[in-house]
Amino acid sequence: MRLSSLLFIAFFSFTAAFSQEISYKLRMTKPQNHYFQVEMNLVDFKQSELLVKMPVWAPGSYLVREFSKNVDLVKAFDENGKALTVTKQTKNAWSIARGSAKKVRVEYEVYSFELSVRTSFLDLTHGFVSGSGVFMYVDGFKDKKGSLEIFKHANFKRITTALEKSNESVASDGSEVFKFENYDQLVDCPIEIGNQEVFEFKASGVQHTVAIFGEGNYSVQRLQTDMAKVVEAATSVVGENPNKKYTFIIHNVVDGQGGLEHTNSTTLSVNRWTYEGSAYVDFLTLVAHEYFHLWNVKRIRPIELGPFNYDEENYTTLLWVMEGWTSYYEDLIVRRAGFITPEEYINRMQSTVNYVEGSVGTRVQPVAHASFDAWVKAYRPNENSANTTMTYYSRGGMLAAQLDAKIISKFKGEKSLDHFLRVLYNKYYKELNRGFSEKEFKDELAKFMGENMDEFFAKYVDGTEVTPLNETFGLLGINVESVGYAKPSFGASLREDGGKVIVRSIRSNSSAENAGLSVNDEIIGCNGYRVDQKSFDDFVAGLSAGDKFSILISRDEILLELEVSMENYLKPQYVFKVNPSDTKKAQLRSYWLRTI
Ligand SMILES: [Zn+2]
Repeated sequence: MRLSSLLFIAFFSFTAAFSQEISYKLRMTKPQNHYFQVEMNLVDFKQSELLVKMPVWAPGSYLVREFSKNVDLVKAFDENGKALTVTKQTKNAWSIARGSAKKVRVEYEVYSFELSVRTSFLDLTHGFVSGSGVFMYVDGFKDKKGSLEIFKHANFKRITTALEKSNESVASDGSEVFKFENYDQLVDCPIEIGNQEVFEFKASGVQHTVAIFGEGNYSVQRLQTDMAKVVEAATSVVGENPNKKYTFIIHNVVDGQGGLEHTNSTTLSVNRWTYEGSAYVDFLTLVAHEYFHLWNVKRIRPIELGPFNYDEENYTTLLWVMEGWTSYYEDLIVRRAGFITPEEYINRMQSTVNYVEGSVGTRVQPVAHASFDAWVKAYRPNENSANTTMTYYSRGGMLAAQLDAKIISKFKGEKSLDHFLRVLYNKYYKELNRGFSEKEFKDELAKFMGENMDEFFAKYVDGTEVTPLNETFGLLGINVESVGYAKPSFGASLREDGGKVIVRSIRSNSSAENAGLSVNDEIIGCNGYRVDQKSFDDFVAGLSAGDKFSILISRDEILLELEVSMENYLKPQYVFKVNPSDTKKAQLRSYWLRTI
């Protein structure tokens, strides 16, 4: 009896689960007005009210962007074309009175004129769809599979996306049909529509498609070879590449903005002349970063980061692992792929350390807090951010180095941080198919290290202590010398604006702050003389600690005279020096910086 009723329930929910269908149609009838037209067809939904929602953020970019601000003309119709009542419920939700309609067609338009890796764009040159800002979902039904039909504008020749094509993918009118397993997958696959150059390469058993929009000094052949090397080096970290196919969408623009990761694709926005010299190595480093995310954050991830809540902030304290460790690995991967030498790698690490330790905010904001507050701080910087924040990218990267050195030394060059990532990948992604909690992450690390890690977390993750640089890098035969120096400064940085000298930022507890100088004040004079940026800089450069001077400022058109003094500001700085005589540690170092 028990078994049969269970079977009945299973059968019932099986049929219920498969009755509803969701399909989208995407049109771009007039690209010059930057509007995508979206149609959502909802079949066999039983609810009398259907709630459709537009996400407020794009996963991977931790800021509420309010994508519903771009949505216009939301309408709904039944199968006979009769209009259904649509009522706005919240900033990003619309309720549709279904009545007895078997099929509901929702139509709306999305203004798309922000070309970035996390937003959407459309003009006569191309279209780019970042799904979470274009496709709405039906509340409670994000797990439904469905299809997307794209009607290209006549100007555009092709569509590039990681979405799978459906069987009858190209219709007679030239539209193309794709399918998705659930809403998360639909919006995790950005779509490039236009006349992009497309090429392929195979690496680590995975077929890679690269679509490049925009002119640039790239060579397809060179990219095929070099991106394959990056892929091989990235795959060697976890030892397994879970994708069969992977898509790169690259936007060649003037102001490159970096990349955004997805499960089996990425979008990169780069300067169109990045494909030569050291800028090219920076490009490959960006490729390594975004590609490495297919493991770290898309599969090895905190439990809060998927399935996502698209309605609000998704908080995690672990971005220092997701972004910080990915930053650590981006350099290691280009090193292991042979694009930089071990010496160049060590120089990069030295720069990261000097940036982190030289920043005032490092001593104020722990990386766990920086992670949690990414939504309101990292993505919303202001003139005071340098005083109060530290990026989880750089400090997180340093902490990864600290752990890696410890692991390499402890396991005598037979294990590294790679192996800890493999533990997380195997257990949480492959076995449990879920993210981990902060506690689980801490416990797994302690177990892997074979020691209590509470002090590490208290001091460096939840605390702001200086990491033990010599102790860390000494394990790998690198001496870290402190060469910090005292630099006379009155504590303000300036910018020139239309010939005016304007205060850009003020360092905490500096003479400038104590004297009452504020950001945006205009410096007009100094010691009774009018100044411009150059004469003021020259004057200050000639002063020593203890020297006082007066400045005449204008604040909101009111003149004020302030007295400031030069103080010795201690700037921490470190130099990394390899100790060539320690051959045992040289072996560990060459394991760390090995070429694959
Ligand atoms: Zn990243």
